[in-house]
Amino acid sequence: MNENNNNNNKGSSLIGLTREEIKDLLIKFDIPDQQINMRINQVWGWIYNRGVSSIDEMTTLSLDLREELKKHHNLDRPVIADEQTSEDGTKKWLLKFNDNSEIETVFIPDNERGTLCVSSQVGCTLNCTFCHTGTQRLVRNLSSQEIISQVVVAKDSLGEWSKEQRKITNIVMMGMGEPLYNFESVRDGILTMSDDAGLSISKRKITLSTSGIVPKIKMAGNEIGSMLAISLHATNNDLRNEIVPINKKYPIEELIEACRNYPVLSNSKRITFEYVMLKGVNDSEAEARDLVKLISGIPAKINLIPFNSWPGSSYECSDWDQIEKFGNIVNRGGYASPIRIPRGEDISAACGQLKSDTKKIRASEKYKKELAKIESKRIGRL
Ligand code: SAH
Ligand code: SF4
Repeated sequence: MNENNNNNNKGSSLIGLTREEIKDLLIKFDIPDQQINMRINQVWGWIYNRGVSSIDEMTTLSLDLREELKKHHNLDRPVIADEQTSEDGTKKWLLKFNDNSEIETVFIPDNERGTLCVSSQVGCTLNCTFCHTGTQRLVRNLSSQEIISQVVVAKDSLGEWSKEQRKITNIVMMGMGEPLYNFESVRDGILTMSDDAGLSISKRKITLSTSGIVPKIKMAGNEIGSMLAISLHATNNDLRNEIVPINKKYPIEELIEACRNYPVLSNSKRITFEYVMLKGVNDSEAEARDLVKLISGIPAKINLIPFNSWPGSSYECSDWDQIEKFGNIVNRGGYASPIRIPRGEDISAACGQLKSDTKKIRASEKYKKELAKIESKRIGRL
C-alpha cells in the first residue's frame, strides 16, 4: 500500500480542485484579489509539479495560510487496493475511494511514450456486448477530483516527481466508463491535466474515447478541446445496434455527422476510429471497404483493436491474417490503420478487460442522486 495514502486525515483533499474551486477557498482566507492567481499557481505547482503529500511542504505559502488550509484540507490520494505489473511493463492500479467503490487505472510504457489509461466512471451503463466493464452492475460517476487523483497516484507510484524525464506523456480516457456521460467532471479533469500550472500535458496528447454520445461531441470539442476517439466497431446500424447498443439512440449517420463537425478537427488533429476485431462478426473485407466509404472525407485514423477476451464473453478475436487483410484495405483507402497490440493481458489490463469487484456502494447523497440520474436515463433508453 502506498505510504502517501493517509486517508485518516480530516477534511477534503485539494487534489483535483478546479481553479475556481481553489479560488473560492482562498477568498475565504482573505487573500487579496491581485494575489489569487499567483497563489492558485503556487498551490497547483506543489501538487502537480512537486507531488507533495502534505500542506506543510507548501513552503511558498505563508505559515498562517498553511495552518488555515490544514484545518479543512489535506492532500490525500485514494487508497491503492492493489497494484500489478505485467511482464511487458504495463502497470495496473486498483484504487479505492472513500465510499469503497473501486476503479482501475493502467499505465502502458512504450519506447518514447507512456500512456495512462484513466477511468471516468465506476463501471459503465452502456453494456457493449464485447466489453467486460459493461457487465459491472453498479455504476457511478467519478468526480473531477477522483479523475485527477488517478494521475497523481500513478505519478507517485512511477516515481515521476523527482525525474526530469516524464514517464506519463499521454492520457487516454479509455478506462472504465463512458466519459461523455460524466461530462462536467471529465471536462474539469482534462482542463486541470492540460493547464500549464496543472499537470501540463498538451491537449494534443489527451484523447477522450466515446461510444458515441452524439449531443455531447460538439460540446466536448468546444469546452474540452482534446483529441477524440470514437468506438465505432461496426459499419451498419443493424450490427452496431447489437454490439454497441447506444447506437439505437444515436445511429451511425448522426455519429459520423457529429465527427465531421467536431470543432477540433484538422489534418494534424485527426479523429481516431476504434474498431474491435470480432471473428466472423465485423471483420469481413466488405466491411473494411464500407468503413472507408463511411468515414470518407474525415481526417482520421483507424485503430484496429484485437478483441481481448474475458471470462464468460461469447466472442473470439479475429485471426491475425484477417486483421491484416482488413487493415490493408483500410490503408489502401487512404487511412492509417495501426493494429493495437494488446498490452498487460497477463494482468487483465488490456482494453475492455477492466472490471473492479465493487459490489456494494455506500452511496452518499450526492452519489445516490448520480445513480438516480443514470438510472432514469437508462430507463428512458429502454
Ligand atoms: N466507454 C468509452 C471508453 C472506454 S472503452 C468507449 O467505449 O469508447 C475503451 C475502448 O476499448 C473502446 O474502444 C472499447 O470499445 C474498447 N473495448 C471494450 N472492450 C474491449 C475488448 N474486450 N477488447 C478490445 N477492446 C475493447
Ligand atoms: Fe462502456 Fe465503453 Fe465498455 Fe461500451 S465499451 S460498455 S461504452 S466502457
